[in-house]
Amino acid sequence: QQAPAPIPLLPLVKRIFDQVALEATDKQIAMTLEAPEADLRVRGTEDGLSNIFGNLMGNAVKYTPAGGKVTVHMALTGGQVLTSVSDTGIGIPEKDLPQLWQEFFRASNARASKIVGTGLGLSIVKRLVETFGGHIQVHSVEGQGTTFTVTLPQVEAPSA
Ligand code: ATP
Ligand code: MG
Repeated sequence: QQAPAPIPLLPLVKRIFDQVALEATDKQIAMTLEAPEADLRVRGTEDGLSNIFGNLMGNAVKYTPAGGKVTVHMALTGGQVLTSVSDTGIGIPEKDLPQLWQEFFRASNARASKIVGTGLGLSIVKRLVETFGGHIQVHSVEGQGTTFTVTLPQVEAPSA
């Protein structure tokens, strides 16, 4: 198991984005990455951070019908690195939001659809984000789309 260390987030997010974009293209979903070119470092492990953003981008494509959009946005505010993954997909019913982070929980509209899943991804994502000293928020409107925002403390890059 790797020890958490300062990791430049943009190259890692780009790598996951490019992988998921292949699936998205097959499904006719347009993916956009908006990020500053700054060297934004956060404390974490390569595996853990890849798992976080792989799950969130994977879910965005999975729960968005063909013709939709997925946008990944990165920003630095007040010493925090914000990474949001937004989609124009099926959304999450408001009544299901409180249970969203529980293991094996799946929203009613996802269960009613033909989209399969175990309901484990987000529970792992939340645990990892918190292990790295950050937090995660969700904003969703059923039938319109979902945004997950991961906030991680910025780690200063070593000065040359
Ligand atoms: P898996 O364990 O394979 O990831 P899953 O995708 O069902 O299965 P989670 O990733 O934990 O499980 O997500 C839990 C539930 O949250 C999903 O079943 C779905 O109801 C809802 N969900 C997660 N991401 C989105 C999204 N982007 N849009 C709509 N619903 C979502
Ligand atoms: Mg999932």
